[in-house]
Amino acid sequence: MKNSLHKLLAGLTVLLLFPVVIAVFYEYSRINDSEKLISTVYKNQLETIVSSINSYVQDVADNWGSRLEMGLKFTEDTSGIARLVSENKSINGIYLSSTDQQQETIYQKNTDGFSRDSLNLFLLSNQDEVVRLKNYYKNGYQKFVSHFLSKEHVVLFFVGEGRNNQLQVFLVDVNLPLFLQNHIRPRIQSIARDNFLIALYLKNNEEVLVSTEKSISQNQEYDQKGEMWLFPFLEIGITLKEQTIADLARSRIKEGLILMAIVLIVLVGGVWFLFSSVKREIQLTQIKSEFIANVSHEIRTPLALISMYIETLEMGRVKSMEKVKEYYGIIGKETQRLTGIVNKILDFSKLEKGKRHFKFGTCDLNTVAEEVLETYQFHLEKKGFEVIFLPEENLPCNWCDKESIADAIVNLIDNARKYSNGIKRIEIKTGVRKKFTFIEVKDFGTGISKKHQKLIFDKFYRITSGDLANQVKGSGLGLAIVSEIIKAHHGKISLSSKPGEGAAFRLYLPKLHPPKGSKQ
Ligand code: ADP
Repeated sequence: MKNSLHKLLAGLTVLLLFPVVIAVFYEYSRINDSEKLISTVYKNQLETIVSSINSYVQDVADNWGSRLEMGLKFTEDTSGIARLVSENKSINGIYLSSTDQQQETIYQKNTDGFSRDSLNLFLLSNQDEVVRLKNYYKNGYQKFVSHFLSKEHVVLFFVGEGRNNQLQVFLVDVNLPLFLQNHIRPRIQSIARDNFLIALYLKNNEEVLVSTEKSISQNQEYDQKGEMWLFPFLEIGITLKEQTIADLARSRIKEGLILMAIVLIVLVGGVWFLFSSVKREIQLTQIKSEFIANVSHEIRTPLALISMYIETLEMGRVKSMEKVKEYYGIIGKETQRLTGIVNKILDFSKLEKGKRHFKFGTCDLNTVAEEVLETYQFHLEKKGFEVIFLPEENLPCNWCDKESIADAIVNLIDNARKYSNGIKRIEIKTGVRKKFTFIEVKDFGTGISKKHQKLIFDKFYRITSGDLANQVKGSGLGLAIVSEIIKAHHGKISLSSKPGEGAAFRLYLPKLHPPKGSKQ
């Protein structure tokens, strides 16, 4: 039986756990793939942010370009340009250079701007670039180019149509920190919200010029870096504020593993639960069949004896009156035994189905015990038992059904007798413990080992030894009946026993105050 149970457990484990383990490994191997996917999606998102910042700067440049062109093309009045300058504090100066090398200063904030000579020199050193810009323009594309002189002087130049519809080179001297503060900062802040850290820094020394944070270290690591299209000497750095992508991946792996562990634990628990229920079912079936064998044996023996003695008496072979009396006595005793067994089975069946009708009322355990002893003491003493009753004085009353409590006590006394193992002493005492009164039936017989102590209250459960011939007879229902009765009284049972030292069963009943839910 043990063997087949273990086979069952192994089968269940393989059946349920194997696919799960495979699934776990599969999921685990997929984690890397999904991390890569997250990484790619995240990178794409960051690239989009870089592009959006770049497009914005391009828009600002386009706006400046068209306003300058318009301002010079259609009117001699420079009020449009004045507005542009007043709206954009980062513009240090605006210069114009005609193709015939005529330079003009349109606006200059202060004296540290371009002088005629320095402007000439600048144009000369960027001659090739200017030619390229002109060609672009002729092909319908206005390109902006920047040149880094210092942080305060970044020259943004482009070719456009200025005065008299002539191609001219426009130069805008920009104060970079001011430009970044006024134009870029609000933009990156609205993109980053609380999620990202975005910074623009000089490419060569990583000096941060503007960022979404108040202060930022020079060796800040970024998940994504991107060049500024219009200011190639600048880079944009973006990273997640709280976590890096590596942290994100790690925490996802952790979450995944925790989830899998939970699934595994639940499954192992499930398998275990299934196994123990199947095991219990199998044990119960086995116990039931033992019970049937037991009970049939118990019934068959008295039946055989009864029919044998009746037959003998019927034949009239027994002459002496004494013998006749003896045989009637045996028939009576066996009939009683039979009735006892049948009653026990019916009792239990009624109790189990909740059909036993309890008549609750005030009762005193001492009186109930005395009444039981009145009936059984003589019988026990005849069999050589010493019965000691130690009633507690002034025992508080209980709310109980006298008849069923008496049945429970009789069952305990009967067991004390059956499992006395030759030591024929039974002690019965009553007492009080906290909210309960109790009655204890103690014997000094075989005792019960720890591993059986909980199980003996299960229906049909019997502790069987290999020695069938000398095995004490029983149905395995006695303690189950006691347990059901005490449950109906909202009481509890305790057992203290050691193998070879006897057993003491205590039935606790709540002191008087009709407990809630008691059926009257
Ligand atoms: P039964 O006595 O008919 O087998 P019970 O339900 O009364 O059924 O008892 C269940 C088992 O508990 C018994 O088979 C016996 O092994 C054990 N048992 C009960 N009472 C005692 C006792 N006083 N001493 C030792 N073993 C006991």
